[in-house]
Amino acid sequence: MSQDALIERTRATLAELLPHEVEVEDIELEGPQIVLYTKQLDVFLSGADILRQISERVRRRVVVRTDPASLIDPKEAEKLIREMIPAEGEINQLFFERETGQVTIEAGSPGAVIGRGGSVLKALKRKIGWVPTVVRTPPIPSKTVEEVRIHLRNYFDDRQSFLRKVGNRLAREPLPEKLWGRATALGGFREVGRSACLLTTQNSKVLIDCGIDPGSDRTPFFNAPELLPLDSLDAVVVTHAHLDHCGLVPVLLKYGYKGPIYCTAPTRDLMTLMLLDAIKVVNQEARKGLYDSGNVRDLVTRTIPLRWGETTDIAPDIRLTMHNAGHILGSSICHFHLGQGDHNIAFTGDMKYERTWLFDPANVRFPRLDTLVIESTYGGARNIQPSRQQATDEFCAYASSVLGRGGKLLVPVFAVGRSQEMMLVLEQGMREGQVPKVPVYLDGMIFEATAIHTAYPEYLNSQLRTQIFQEGDNPFLSDIFRRVDSPTMRSEVLDSNEPCVVLATSGMMSGGPVMEYFRAWAPNRTNALLFVGYQAEGTFGRRLQRGLTEASFVDSGKPASVPIRLEIATVEGFSGHSDRNQLMNYVRNLDPRPRQILVNHGEESRAVDLATSLHRRFGIGAQAPLNLEAVRFL
Ligand SMILES: [Zn+2]
Repeated sequence: MSQDALIERTRATLAELLPHEVEVEDIELEGPQIVLYTKQLDVFLSGADILRQISERVRRRVVVRTDPASLIDPKEAEKLIREMIPAEGEINQLFFERETGQVTIEAGSPGAVIGRGGSVLKALKRKIGWVPTVVRTPPIPSKTVEEVRIHLRNYFDDRQSFLRKVGNRLAREPLPEKLWGRATALGGFREVGRSACLLTTQNSKVLIDCGIDPGSDRTPFFNAPELLPLDSLDAVVVTHAHLDHCGLVPVLLKYGYKGPIYCTAPTRDLMTLMLLDAIKVVNQEARKGLYDSGNVRDLVTRTIPLRWGETTDIAPDIRLTMHNAGHILGSSICHFHLGQGDHNIAFTGDMKYERTWLFDPANVRFPRLDTLVIESTYGGARNIQPSRQQATDEFCAYASSVLGRGGKLLVPVFAVGRSQEMMLVLEQGMREGQVPKVPVYLDGMIFEATAIHTAYPEYLNSQLRTQIFQEGDNPFLSDIFRRVDSPTMRSEVLDSNEPCVVLATSGMMSGGPVMEYFRAWAPNRTNALLFVGYQAEGTFGRRLQRGLTEASFVDSGKPASVPIRLEIATVEGFSGHSDRNQLMNYVRNLDPRPRQILVNHGEESRAVDLATSLHRRFGIGAQAPLNLEAVRFL
């Protein structure tokens, strides 16, 4: 449907569904949504159902905003808000978003701001025109979340004109012929790393993930003819913020991609943190990067955040809905609805089908499902891991023995996901007495990544969410945690004689602060190094697991070496990936069951083994395509 026809249809639907006295001043296409501007916002907000009805009729996401003409100046509005809200509300910051006509009130005590039965908020809304929403002040301030907010405010006009362009492009008429569709493997098939898959119909092209291979720096097959030119793409969808899934998205922008990036809000923020950090690492090593911070800023401007369960048009014949994948904060299973339901295909991305200390298990329920693309990191027949509880018990027992003998425990972790889970395990272990209470030092990006977790509690499992918001119960704020935020403090920790735990990056010991602790503590057999994550072939971590006895390094330009006498151990079971049993159970419990499965994201033997076993067990057509192969599903 063309742009004008869509607006016309919306107008007709409004005339039919809205009471006569309600006026809509203007209708605009903005990115994937239709925006209605009105002076009578209350009508839409009180009867939330009316928006859903309109949306179903016009087959687009519909949002409603206050007509800008009736919005008072933010400065004036702020004055009124601070006057009208009682002091016990503890208002911190206010964020006015002209983009949505909303004002977000950050408060220490949201209940007092809202008032009995919403009385204070209602009065406020009438007075200022802006729609107030109240959020609790994030328990740990995050620099990244703050910077993304400021960036979006500063680039408001650029973003608005960008969203309008996206809206117009989306409204183009699809070809009338029967729909066809296929998926092309562009990276991360029969391997782990450089994930990329292209979804194509005769009308649309959507790229799912665009990652780097952290081991070798290999890129996806960018020169595959179906991907070029890059501005022929309608959308880029990012499943989650790990660099093997999003590390090369800025490169697409640098070389000509002009469209939007879809992901959840926490994925956007974590991705920003990871990409900027990757630039820092490249600069430190005096290498030339594939992109710069300008490309990352551009990416933030062009990201359209989606909430789980919210369906959005991303191409003339493709609608996207994201669901929890249970892997890291904001990680999503991406479900694509093609044409008029001609075909439904879901990509799991990296996925965990077990309740972890951070997340609920991956979503298994979809309205419709024909094809599933599933990961196979631990898809081999022998890839069985202990449960979270077993892993936790083993971890606590080990930590207790090391600390009990006066040793220091060094745990290499990824900044995102594993470190927050280890924090929860240690906090509970020390609170309940299974582990002696000692300081837990956090070094590297861990603290900032944790802050982003607490800014998005709705993406965590319900128990943790409640804990975060209960005064004095937030496990991340426990006094056992100390942030190492300067080289001086690091030296103090390194030289201290007291037992302690250090969580530090990088997770596979390929660099980062963990190396300094390792060098200092390796010669002493009282200390211990404990791995809680996968150590890839070729990494220093893997060599240590294999029994390396001496490590050489460069100290102020001179080669040096240390003997490795500290104890080295591994606890399995903290992975963010499903093991073989969880993958099989996931497919068993899918509702509905798909007719076809494509396996990706796993070493060749594991991917092939999982495909064969899924076919045998469930009688579903399953295969593990090679990179550059295309599978037609429609
Ligand atoms: Zn991942």
